[in-house]
Amino acid sequence: MATLADYPKIAAGKVRELHAIDDEHLLLVASDRISAYDFVLESPIPDKGRVLTAMSVFWFELLGDLVPNHLVAWDDDRIPAEVRGRALVVRRLSMLQVEAVARGYLAGSGTLDYNRTGAVCGISLPPRLVEGSRLPSPIFTPATKAPLGSHDENVDFAAVVAEIGPEHAARVRDLTLAVYERAAAYAAERGVILADTKFEFGLLDGEVVLGDEVLTPDSSRYWPLETYAPGRAQPSFDKQYVRDWLTSDESGWDRASNTPPPPLPDAVVEATRSRYVQAYELVTGRKFADWIG
Ligand code: ATP
Ligand code: MG
Repeated sequence: MATLADYPKIAAGKVRELHAIDDEHLLLVASDRISAYDFVLESPIPDKGRVLTAMSVFWFELLGDLVPNHLVAWDDDRIPAEVRGRALVVRRLSMLQVEAVARGYLAGSGTLDYNRTGAVCGISLPPRLVEGSRLPSPIFTPATKAPLGSHDENVDFAAVVAEIGPEHAARVRDLTLAVYERAAAYAAERGVILADTKFEFGLLDGEVVLGDEVLTPDSSRYWPLETYAPGRAQPSFDKQYVRDWLTSDESGWDRASNTPPPPLPDAVVEATRSRYVQAYELVTGRKFADWIG
């Protein structure tokens, strides 16, 4: 049985780590770390890494006929016991330097751009849309991958063409929209709005392949259909307890101060953990207790 120490770490992001298995395979490890308001919090959320990994596996399988993906294994002897359930063996891709975002609803940086210019990533939208509005049809709103610590920047399609060439740009756009539409329809049947999501693609033998994590609460905005109401920020499925507590008087944290947030109380950690599990079970229809690890 392999151990993590067998695999050199080649990259670490805010919540995940990437290890090399061999020339063709990587181990993508999801931690229990959580970020909010651009800070990685001191308090981990138990099982978050396993929930997000289970969710990615679910979607890779469901979408397999639409788009080739990097997933090779999630439960074989290349996976060290210490990370079982929150690590994937994946094909090593040459990543395309584009955050491939699809939006079916206006939110976040989309709303900011729209309010300034009436467009998002160069795509003109009808007047009088508000935060949370459903768009006439889903749009491809790419962003450049920002270095650690800075924000991704929305760009137009021409910038994607300049970065990765016209053929790959068109393929990435078409796949992003096709996958979003399939996933959003699936989620809607289960009472969940998939407002937007971000994919990362890479090349394998010249072919565009879906990599990274897919359609997790960390890469997507999932909103409960029940409480959906355009005109305000929608409560987020997963991080709402964390955000509400951090901005409450009780936390004593001043968001404007630019100091790291305090540790979360146990009750907030537990409520957040159960939201992640609930999101997984609602969206996939699977029981989290059946997941490995
Ligand atoms: P953050 O998400 O914290 O802003 P990040 O995106 O750099 O930072 P992670 O998401 O934690 O880091 O790590 C995943 C990294 O692995 C990303 O850089 C992603 O592009 C890369 N990656 C994902 N799948 C593959 C793959 N199959 N081959 C090569 N690199 C991959
Ligand atoms: Mg990332």
